[in-house]
Amino acid sequence: MNGAWARCDLASAAQIEQSFERGQLMPLSSYDDDPFVADATVECLPGGGFAANDDGRLVLANARVAIEDEPFIYRFDEAAGVFRRFAWNPWPRLPLSNGDGSFRYPDEPRFPLLEIERGPDGRPVLRDGAQVWKPFDLQRGATTIFEAANNVKDAVEDWSGRAVPWGVGGVLGVEAHAFYDYNAFYSPSSRMLFFGVVAYRLPDTTELRVFETATSWEIAAHEVGHALHHPLKPHADGTDFGWRTWTESFGDQAAMWTQLRDPGRVRALLAASDLGESNALSRMGEAFGVFAGTGEAQRDAVNDATVSSTPPQVHARSEVLTGAAYAFFLDLYGELSRQGRASAVEQASTILGVFLVRAADYTPENQVTLEDVGKAYLKVDAELFAGRYRDRLIDEFERREIFDAQSFGEWLAHEAALPDVRLPFGLGVRAAADVVGANLDRLGVGPDFGLRVESATRDERFRQTIVRVQLTQGRGADAVPLDDHGVLVFREDGSLADHHAAVATDGASNAEAVALLDEARRLGLHAHGAPLSIVRDAERRLRVEARVLRSDGPAVWVDAFTPDAPHGERREVVSPTWGSELQAERMAGAGVALGAGELGE
Ligand SMILES: [Zn+2]
Repeated sequence: MNGAWARCDLASAAQIEQSFERGQLMPLSSYDDDPFVADATVECLPGGGFAANDDGRLVLANARVAIEDEPFIYRFDEAAGVFRRFAWNPWPRLPLSNGDGSFRYPDEPRFPLLEIERGPDGRPVLRDGAQVWKPFDLQRGATTIFEAANNVKDAVEDWSGRAVPWGVGGVLGVEAHAFYDYNAFYSPSSRMLFFGVVAYRLPDTTELRVFETATSWEIAAHEVGHALHHPLKPHADGTDFGWRTWTESFGDQAAMWTQLRDPGRVRALLAASDLGESNALSRMGEAFGVFAGTGEAQRDAVNDATVSSTPPQVHARSEVLTGAAYAFFLDLYGELSRQGRASAVEQASTILGVFLVRAADYTPENQVTLEDVGKAYLKVDAELFAGRYRDRLIDEFERREIFDAQSFGEWLAHEAALPDVRLPFGLGVRAAADVVGANLDRLGVGPDFGLRVESATRDERFRQTIVRVQLTQGRGADAVPLDDHGVLVFREDGSLADHHAAVATDGASNAEAVALLDEARRLGLHAHGAPLSIVRDAERRLRVEARVLRSDGPAVWVDAFTPDAPHGERREVVSPTWGSELQAERMAGAGVALGAGELGE
């Protein structure tokens, strides 16, 4: 159980005050859900480590998270594909501690009014091309993100047994009010989080109000999940449908399993429901129900979603995996309940958290399918839980159509084919490079290719070593790096637990891959600042392309250079978000939340 959370929860107000005075705890206001569900509560983070401004006031920044806004709220111009200034940012750009040195803001309104400066014609006044909104002294959005970011990071590091290097230099930058929309996103380019705000008018009312997505703990925690999934799976192809689906489920699950480490939240959840039906834990994005006029949450982990019953949109499809994981959680919770419900929730959510993060070590590095993720769950079970959950995982994944009738057999064949390669526990990159270099043929690497060891990470919780490798053309000092990656996992006894190769280049593939790389260079595909990548297309044929991650402010996309499109083709925006276009349309139809255009009238 998280120390600060538990101490804050169990202590009396006087004890919290004492711990705060001693610098052991930092109390801060945070929503547990979102403002439409319940008002904010006071949570605690460990005291100390906060940065201060020139006047000695504390700011919402420590060694891992830094929250600071820009002067403007932007809006996305769909036609031009760029972000433009929309309004002067009316929130404090740098949230400061209050008079007593804490981040408690008990008197802030849950549903703040939005006042827009208007001219004689009633239209918003534009200054430097941006609307002027009456300034807010509201901090709860920023404090809610800050609390979520610190606690989700603690949880993921605890489950994965390692420090997870997110953001830039270990610090995750966050803009709590960055753009106008009911959405939020993680930019894999700047490795930062951006949260949106949206104006709304409830039915049969005239007041214009504003919703900060930052005040939704689950939106914040979901986005923080993206920021952690990225360094756990550093080479995932951001345009890959399977990866993008998985990371949406990762965000929702990171939010669910982390909040079950908060004893106050657990008590409230258990008092209100039996967790088997749709409940405040399983429902994500309740604000959406207000804006869409349906009262339904945006996503619900209590669901019967299957691959064939969901549209091929990443958030919708992610509910299949989230639903399967939640069903598994309920199963464990039921089994463990003899020891008391709160303890059962804590244990079951820890197990689900371990599955969530360790699946990243047992999946292919670049492109991944939901079936690959399902197989990784079997592997986590086999390695860390003695295969206890295998049958129920297979049943659940088959029911969800994540697995077909062949999946389990394929997984067994993969297990049986693992080569005999050893790396003793406790050794680093250099030893791993020696082991990999001496076993290239066993690792499926053709004679014209090699592997460069990029990292050797230890899971201290389960005592395994995760080695990430990059495919090279050639070997030794002249080897040319390719945008293809593999992963090996070694057990504490040094034996190989798992291996997912970069694209196989052995056998006949060796000559074919060399010929394709030659052709790609002849076409100049290598001259765009990104290494060439060997990929298999849908028909399992080898192809070569170069993918360049580009960004313009908060907008991120990939330009792919292929033999068919040697001058580049733009692939879908790769920033993982909170919501989908389908849902945006439903909201627009309801007319509660106002579009940027409507707010300009
Ligand atoms: Zn997302």
